[in-house]
Amino acid sequence: MPIYQVALPLPKRQLFDYLYEHTGLQPGCRVRVPFGPRELIGIIISTTEDSPFLNKLKPITQVIDQQPVIDQTLLSLCNWLAGYYHHPIGEVMHTVLPVALRKGESDKPKPIQVLSLIEGNQAVIPEQLNRAKKQRELYIELLERAIPVSSLKQTYTDTVIKGLVEKNIAKFESVDEQDEAMEFSLPETIEKPQPNVEQALAITAISQSLAKYRCFLLEGITGSGKTEVYLQSIEEVLKNHKQVLILVPEIGLTPQTVKRFEKRFEIKVGILHSNLTDNERLAVWQKSRSGKLGIIIGTRSSIFTPMARPGMIIVDEEHDASYKQQDGLKYNARDLAVIRAKEHKIPLILGSATPSLESLNNALTGRYQLLQLHQRAGNALQAKQSVLDITNQPLTAGLAAGMLTRIEQHLKAGNQVMLFVNRRGFAPALLCHQCGHVEECRRCNKPYTVHKSLHKMQCHHCGAAKPLPKQCKECGHHELITQGVGTEQLTMYLEQEFPQYSSVRIDSDSVRGKAKLDNLLTEINGGAHQILIGTQILSKGHHFPNVTLVVILDADGALFSADFRASEHLAQLITQLSGRAGRAQKPGEMWLQTHQPGHPLLQDLIHNGYGHFARFALSERKLANLPPFSFHALFRTESLKAQDGFEFLSHVSQMLQHPQVHLVGPIPAIMEKRQGKYRMQLLVQSQSRGLINKVIGHFAAEIEALPMARKVRWSIDIDPQDFM
Ligand code: ADP
Ligand code: ZN
Repeated sequence: MPIYQVALPLPKRQLFDYLYEHTGLQPGCRVRVPFGPRELIGIIISTTEDSPFLNKLKPITQVIDQQPVIDQTLLSLCNWLAGYYHHPIGEVMHTVLPVALRKGESDKPKPIQVLSLIEGNQAVIPEQLNRAKKQRELYIELLERAIPVSSLKQTYTDTVIKGLVEKNIAKFESVDEQDEAMEFSLPETIEKPQPNVEQALAITAISQSLAKYRCFLLEGITGSGKTEVYLQSIEEVLKNHKQVLILVPEIGLTPQTVKRFEKRFEIKVGILHSNLTDNERLAVWQKSRSGKLGIIIGTRSSIFTPMARPGMIIVDEEHDASYKQQDGLKYNARDLAVIRAKEHKIPLILGSATPSLESLNNALTGRYQLLQLHQRAGNALQAKQSVLDITNQPLTAGLAAGMLTRIEQHLKAGNQVMLFVNRRGFAPALLCHQCGHVEECRRCNKPYTVHKSLHKMQCHHCGAAKPLPKQCKECGHHELITQGVGTEQLTMYLEQEFPQYSSVRIDSDSVRGKAKLDNLLTEINGGAHQILIGTQILSKGHHFPNVTLVVILDADGALFSADFRASEHLAQLITQLSGRAGRAQKPGEMWLQTHQPGHPLLQDLIHNGYGHFARFALSERKLANLPPFSFHALFRTESLKAQDGFEFLSHVSQMLQHPQVHLVGPIPAIMEKRQGKYRMQLLVQSQSRGLINKVIGHFAAEIEALPMARKVRWSIDIDPQDFM
């Protein structure tokens, strides 16, 4: 009987041998196999003549696919991933496949349940809906297209949906997208604005290399028309009947973004985000694979979407941290985009107002082609940036008195204001006024965050929550005070100061699910709220045309961080936040409250802009021999006893000794303990990326086989983005 080598979703760097009565099973096909007491779904990789376990081999239980679900290009991408990230091939393939396929379901998607209008596209809104606001909203959405039931339920309650159905306005139906979808075609004429000179230069440069690999870094301030450059570059690709894959950050994918692409080309865009059902995701995957979609927009994992006729890849906001997967296969979708574009011989555009230092360095050394947009399109002005010295100033909920006056001025002028705090909850710590005891999570050794409206304190590292204590655990004193400011506290304060205006909090507590965020953004831009208080989410590509004042409460922490990337991230955050203001014709201003008004980093950023700051930061990295001028890999462990992690990493360290490899550690991670586990790390640094890969690759299987490896949870992070 022929022997097949199968990749299984297990943390083992090896293939597994199985028997099957017939020859000719193709690599990339799924099979069901017995594994111990379980049954697993694996992927055929190859055949072999001989096996060390010849007399113990078991047969394949079931062949799921006749045709490979992982085609040749995807297969070679998996091999690259396994090799570069030193990750078990079976787990790589598991990551790359849509969930429905991992579970062994057919690769033909099942019909999708949608809600659609009964009589098609009526232009008038039925009178019955005049007093049902939500139903009316839904009706208007349905005028544009039928909505899959799963995404519907995130925005509308069952009552709203049922309302429309009972009034005979809408109905549920199941559509078989596979049969329905046609190959895309473009309209006769495509309306578009005349590009300005810099845009035209960029579009021309890109259009001239459509038939080969080339990576472009499009560096353009917010509102400078980067998206317009994408749109006009894409047009050529679609005309050639090729497909475009667009990656966007995790929470940057809004209906507005999608609509902009659909409207320009009058085609249906395939959307991939984390709230889809397995079946919906599979449907987009399939339609892209068979070439029926011209444009696919999605978050990180859509980099694995197969395309029948790939024509271009775009990574928007390429600096965004969400492109890096933090667990399992720790890939960076932006870096993978380079690999895919090379493989397909197609252009890649990396766009950002605040490019990562890695990409910027590649552009400055000529590996990427740098395209710059310096002006805001349509004459919009850039926000004026300033720092406010808050040393020795009284602060209420983190705000200086002068800032409150400024906020009032902007509100009175009929504009919106936006405030950024990097902590959610009411306050990041609760302490005893008598003895100073701080309430800490015992599993993480970090202070609990106080959530006042929920009457609880919660650990933001492990999620553990407790009711707020009435007295100090140490001394029994009754006066417990909070320290620091979170979004909840600031919102409460501003609501009290400005009761005549509507305040809204935008953080992961108040925004559960993407649809909720989309709704909030629509409300804000419709003028329902004037004061926006939020965390990082605010900085992620959403446009707030009526915001004229942006306040950053306190960003000093990042100026003294142990992480060498902290200043880069701070500069990106400040620049992105200030880019939210004054997008329309209204000029905006950004104020940064700080105890370090003279800090060179802040001064450089405020006066000379991100581009200047970034180039200077690169020269500093070069002096310190830090990435991108050297390369990192990070071994991490988590264990119940700190000693186990230490011993394991010491073994690893001994193995990896090499004159051109610099090893740092084992040392405790920045976050030493989480969820009761001790966390250690070993940093591997070298001038040569190839050497790191070679050394780790050489020992990976041996490390996996170390007896200590069973006592700890360990992982390898290639090109780590943080040291938490
Ligand atoms: P970015 O993606 O860099 O933030 P956008 O492409 O969204 O910028 O452009 C910002 C605004 O300017 C949008 O409203 C867009 O329609 C408009 N715009 C872009 N390019 C032009 C142009 N050449 N002429 C007129 N308006 C433009
Ligand atoms: Zn905890």
